[in-house]
Amino acid sequence: MQIVQYGHPVLRWKSKPVQAINDDLRNIVREMFELMYAAKGIGLAANQVALPYRLFVVNVTADPAEIDEEIVFLNPRIRKRKGSESGEEGCLSLPGLYANVDRSEEVILEAYDLNGEGFEMELDDLPARVVQHEIDHLDGILFVDRLDPEERMKLEPKLLGFESDFRKQQALGSFPSDEVIKKQLKEMEQGMKPKPSV
Ligand code: ZN
Repeated sequence: MQIVQYGHPVLRWKSKPVQAINDDLRNIVREMFELMYAAKGIGLAANQVALPYRLFVVNVTADPAEIDEEIVFLNPRIRKRKGSESGEEGCLSLPGLYANVDRSEEVILEAYDLNGEGFEMELDDLPARVVQHEIDHLDGILFVDRLDPEERMKLEPKLLGFESDFRKQQALGSFPSDEVIKKQLKEMEQGMKPKPSV
């Protein structure tokens, strides 16, 4: 498992709900936390590790020692939004890129935990921003899509750079073709394969 970068088609995939909680899923979640900490991130969505499932992990402290701060969100849904606030965001799939993004100031979010228990959270400030960013990933949306055209244009050269890097890696065989990747994602959605081959 690895964190994939802009250009990989999974980042444009609208993911399907998690249907079963088993050891495969628990291992995926653990590995996602570890990759997130290694990259010094505070949130990581399944799309970012090339998995088409509606799940993400968060630890706003970015500190692996703060285990109590770890939260797993399965099949999350924002039930209520309030206000609007602009703040800087980055993304582990777009390393080195930062921009101000408008988000709801407060959200009420529903999700399931790894025990299959439903829970609800009322969030504001950074946690509210993080969950909105991560839920976007599950719908194939990236923070750069939420910028006004002028801001987006400023980032365009870097985005094209990420894209051409990915194409080069495909040409070298580090990743399969888009067609094969999409086929693998569909198979994973149908539960035919628990893990990706990329
Ligand atoms: Zn992100």
